Amino acid sequence: MSSSIKENIKNIKESIPAHVQLIAVSKTKSVTEILEAYDAGQRDFGENYVQEFLQKQAELPKDIRWHFIGHLQTNKVKQILPHVHLIHGVDSLKLLKEIHKESQKINKISSCLIQIHIAEEESKFGFDEEACVSLLQSTEVDKYSGAQIKGFMGMASFTDDERKVRSEFQKINKIAKAFPKYQILSYGMSGDYKIAIEEGSNMIRVGSLIFGSRIYNK
Ligand SMILES: *Cc1c(COP(=O)(O)O)cnc(C)c1O
Repeated sequence: MSSSIKENIKNIKESIPAHVQLIAVSKTKSVTEILEAYDAGQRDFGENYVQEFLQKQAELPKDIRWHFIGHLQTNKVKQILPHVHLIHGVDSLKLLKEIHKESQKINKISSCLIQIHIAEEESKFGFDEEACVSLLQSTEVDKYSGAQIKGFMGMASFTDDERKVRSEFQKINKIAKAFPKYQILSYGMSGDYKIAIEEGSNMIRVGSLIFGSRIYNK
């Protein structure tokens, strides 16, 4: 028998330092399951897919802070902006510009994280270190005042090699140290959040350890 969502949240919260924020990743999970986490006091949830996110947020309490953690296409930005608290996966200048433009239209300043490509897998999105540093050093980003950069996000390789995962997280931490005004460091998931915290993460995105494993039908 699996333990309850409430117990899982409690256990994770007890095992992490107070300065680390827990995002409950609820993709593929039902409104009922999300409400169970909500009843345990959880308010920050992460979703990956635009349609699924929009449906759920419409049904769920308005004090939930929604984190969009998936790959975001520019043509979907407009739909999610009014409902999102933090966009984790900003992986191109084009996307940043679009968030700025659409945010201005609705008089919002949207908080964003720059996604850094740290894993060896080609499939994962994000800026490489050099591109990220040159973007942030330029004055370009200041022009996009509707999209406020708050920090960095990344995903490590899918591997059991702890040393490798650790060195990948260190890459983000190194960039973050060069740009201290961007304070949110979003890395670490169910399998690697402890290493992530040791390597400076202050925001972890945990799904399966809270809600159980996911069954995909997409
Ligand atoms: C699904 C997902 C997570 C959570 O993964 P778990 O291994 O279930 O904790 C975290 N971050 C991103 C970007 C995800 O897509």
